[in-house]
Amino acid sequence: MQTIIDALLTKQPFLARKDADQVQKQAAIEDLRRKVPAPVLAHYLRLLACDRRGVAIVRNGVCGECHIRVPHAMYRSLADPADLHLCENCGCYLSLAPEERHGATKAPAPLPVARRAYRRRALAVA
Ligand SMILES: [Zn+2]
Repeated sequence: MQTIIDALLTKQPFLARKDADQVQKQAAIEDLRRKVPAPVLAHYLRLLACDRRGVAIVRNGVCGECHIRVPHAMYRSLADPADLHLCENCGCYLSLAPEERHGATKAPAPLPVARRAYRRRALAVA
């Protein structure tokens, strides 16, 4: 499945351009049609038609399209190239950043510290 995601990812900058030649776009789509299953390609093209990314890069456990943290179990399974993953928030296909592909078994960056403790302390002082 990683080859499918890589194929979609390489064509994405060209297909997302509004000023690109329609004949060349159709040729690129026909090229993808030979490599990618029809339902996957249809979802990908639907996302691009809505001015969104079809494939988002996940860095530090965060989706590159919607900037929402991906669940830890999904982040770990992104390293497995045998499956396709969709962002639960924005619906785009997810691909792990190349620099993180071998280190995805470790936990992503920790969550930011909650502010609630700070507020309690501020009230106690006042
Ligand atoms: Zn997302």
